[in-house]
Amino acid sequence: MRVDCAELTRFIVPGTDSDVAEAYAALAERARTTVFGFEDEVVFVDIETTGFDPDRDAIIEIAALRAKGPEMLDRFHTMVDPGRPVPLEITKLTGIDDAMLAGAPGPEAAATDFARFAGGADIIAHNVSFDRGFLTRAAGTACFRGEWIDSLQLSLLALPRLSSHRLHDLALAFGATIPTHRATEDAEALAFLWRVMLCALEGLPPGLVAHIAQLAPGAEWPLRGTLAHIAGGSKRVPTFDLKETRRHRVTADKAESLLDAEGLECSCPPAEEIVSEFEADGIAGRMYQGFERRDEQARMATAVTEAFASGTHAAIEAGTGVGKSVAYLVPAARFALENKVSVGVATKTNSLADQLIYSELPALCEAMDEPLRYVSLKGYEHYPCLRKLERFASELGADAPECTIVTTATLLTWSAQSSWGDLDAMNIHWSRELRTQIAAAIPDCTHKRCRFFPNLCYLHGARRRAASSHIVVTNHALLFRDVVASGGILPPIRHWIVDEAHAAEAEARDQLTLAAGHMELAAVLTALHSRGRGGILEAVRRKMRSAPGEPGTLLAELVAAEEAITTAATLVNSLFDFVKDLGTVVADTGYDQCDVRITSQIREAGPWGPVASIGGSLARKLEAVLERGRSLVTLLEQAGPEFGDPRADLAGLLSRIADQLEGLTAVLSGESAEYVYWLELDRRRNVATERLIAARLDVGQVLAEEFFSRSHSIIFTSATIAAGDDFSHFVRGVGLDRLDEGAYTTLRLESSYDFDNQMAVFVPNDMAMPSTNGYLSDLESLLRQVHLAMGGSTLTLFTNRRDMDRLYQVLEPELETQGVSLIIQGKGVSRKRLRDEFLADEALSLFATKSFWEGFDAKGDTLRCVVVPRLPFGRPTDPLAQEREEREGRAAWARYALPEAVIELKQAAGRLIRSKSDTGCLVIADSRVLHKGYGRDFLAALPVKDIERLSSADTASEIGRRFGRPKPD
Ligand code: SF4
Repeated sequence: MRVDCAELTRFIVPGTDSDVAEAYAALAERARTTVFGFEDEVVFVDIETTGFDPDRDAIIEIAALRAKGPEMLDRFHTMVDPGRPVPLEITKLTGIDDAMLAGAPGPEAAATDFARFAGGADIIAHNVSFDRGFLTRAAGTACFRGEWIDSLQLSLLALPRLSSHRLHDLALAFGATIPTHRATEDAEALAFLWRVMLCALEGLPPGLVAHIAQLAPGAEWPLRGTLAHIAGGSKRVPTFDLKETRRHRVTADKAESLLDAEGLECSCPPAEEIVSEFEADGIAGRMYQGFERRDEQARMATAVTEAFASGTHAAIEAGTGVGKSVAYLVPAARFALENKVSVGVATKTNSLADQLIYSELPALCEAMDEPLRYVSLKGYEHYPCLRKLERFASELGADAPECTIVTTATLLTWSAQSSWGDLDAMNIHWSRELRTQIAAAIPDCTHKRCRFFPNLCYLHGARRRAASSHIVVTNHALLFRDVVASGGILPPIRHWIVDEAHAAEAEARDQLTLAAGHMELAAVLTALHSRGRGGILEAVRRKMRSAPGEPGTLLAELVAAEEAITTAATLVNSLFDFVKDLGTVVADTGYDQCDVRITSQIREAGPWGPVASIGGSLARKLEAVLERGRSLVTLLEQAGPEFGDPRADLAGLLSRIADQLEGLTAVLSGESAEYVYWLELDRRRNVATERLIAARLDVGQVLAEEFFSRSHSIIFTSATIAAGDDFSHFVRGVGLDRLDEGAYTTLRLESSYDFDNQMAVFVPNDMAMPSTNGYLSDLESLLRQVHLAMGGSTLTLFTNRRDMDRLYQVLEPELETQGVSLIIQGKGVSRKRLRDEFLADEALSLFATKSFWEGFDAKGDTLRCVVVPRLPFGRPTDPLAQEREEREGRAAWARYALPEAVIELKQAAGRLIRSKSDTGCLVIADSRVLHKGYGRDFLAALPVKDIERLSSADTASEIGRRFGRPKPD
């Protein structure tokens, strides 16, 4: 039996090689028929519980299956009385309520019974630490004699091209019993999926499984036995070689590099010809079934063509529904093909880049008459460095944690199954430290000395393909990093589309920011040398012991470097202790984290003294570390090729130190008027995240000098870059206003949606002003009424986290009793998970902070009401806003804060209507929009002309009537 390919395809990461996808599609059938000779009896278990914490929560159900190979031998099932009520959300999830548990054994008796059932067999569970935690806590560790094996680990490393490894998703992908959050079904699904995973493992390149089974010798890893059995099952196990494996996977790209448009007489298709591509029989028409001509789309394509033809720039606001990506891709592709040059497309979010690479560009390719090449290119750190991975894997020792072993193994299998791709496409929860150790980096790439260079390397392979691609999709970060470095990171591209351009200024500022951080400095110094914990210098020492010849100067330099590093590490801790103390000189905002602008008053105040003097000492010591380190790099170069790896790693770490030193000296001196300086603080004593920041105030000037000067044409586009009809805020931010007259144009295209019929905007007219005491209770009452009226699908976007937390505490239990579920953005749950949860369930409503909607695309009924409690003005404590106000006075507010807030409100409104059939309402609960002069700016920028001003109670009943979920009978 082959699985339902549509289901499986949903879970295969886009861009997966076709042979790999086909192999995944055959796994379910193989799992039913394959018999592995080594298989002993094992027990598959699943439990349901009252919560996630074994110390506070308890088991309510246990189900298990005993199996040998594909044969089921025995079953175990019991309900469990946890000795406390089952929480409502667990009953909703599992269907298990208190009545079902009456008379059932308690956790200890049930877990002991299960232990008897398991006997000496190994116990397999998905995310085994959860089940093991509850069962051993209830019955005692000694009751269980077999190994606890984690099927989630096996799934990750055996099926690295899947986007999800949740049991439910694996079951959907491979046609197993669909888990229902009841233990019996979950255990049955797991038993089948385990065999799918074993078959997937068997399909990996010869020798790789044996290699993985030998990772981290001496480390406890229960999965090792299973891997060794599968590896031993092959008749002859060849030695694994990553280079050979890559050679089999990668086909060399022989395409020629395209031209640099600098100095070329570029030609452009006539505008009429481009417009005709937006007819049903044109390129855009052929891209999609049921294509409908849109005037705005054709107008945007014309504007892009005219800008490319005249070598000018453009800022284009294209409302939702215009189809702006196709509007720029078609002229960009025609221009690139005609002139044999590359056009760059830079996006802010991965979701848009993925949409271009995996949806729109493939469709465009099919619709074009000529072969169009395109590629996605990210920053170095997004790609795995195979040289580092190989060495990292070989150096894993007995103390390696299981999660590190599994991640390393997954990277190896992913490399064997992926011609191209990057770390973001992998389903791994990275620790920052681990990712840094494996990711590629400019300073430590050994280029021609590396055995993977260039074609087998993910990074250089992507760069090579970029040089021969007509469309290069990249992100804002890499584009502006290239601008800051004056080129060399990206191919020489002279024509750019900067999509999601509302974020361009901030991203460019990030790339221009200098910083020194407590964690960053401590990590890089530890990676160089840490007494008793190794580091690169320790690796050099080990190599020196085994290398022939006299160590002499090298050893002396090594000792001197180690001393400098040890002193620098002490100074780092001391400096940031004093930095933390600076938190006492600013008013307590009630939050642990705060930003403190370094004003002249702060620099003159007493607590700054030790920061300046210890910071100065640290800067001098870091200079010494750099000097010693660079001299070591030279000596290692002379010492021979066996020192190549540590030399490259050392060079990489020195470059990170140089960046930190630059940030430190910039902040300590505080001399440049081009920067604003601040401290990022965390008041908690045990958190070491302090950073010293120097951020460029006027990014536009840098872009004018470095970006526009070397580009022929840049198109900035977004659904929200103008405040009303006014582009001046955007134009100033990115520096277009520094160019000669006529060097750029602006264009505003209305949305193709019928907002007046699809969307309503309400402003309750009886709310207290946000600065007054009555506001929070008015807001509480409004939210209660709105949520009850809507019955779900409501997103409230707070600017103030404390308001959000406080109102959630009050409203969530109350709404729950009335059948309305409310979730909240918070610690411990990723934004993606929260978003997926919200989008999957129309009955859910969500409290989130205003930054939440970045990349949020909620088509259909899952989002029908957005509530904005306060107008989205930036924080008054924002150092950038404070600095602007100090320099420009009250005018700064109208120049920056107001248009930024207007644009943010437009973005919130834009989230509601994502297709022609969407309907929804926006509720603005801030009466300043009615009573303050600037309120008009907000209302005028919204796509709906009639604003409904009703009492809170009437607002709620009106939106309930027009947009609420139908009540169940
Ligand atoms: S070429 Fe550079 S980035 Fe690529 S694997 Fe080798 S060292 Fe790493």
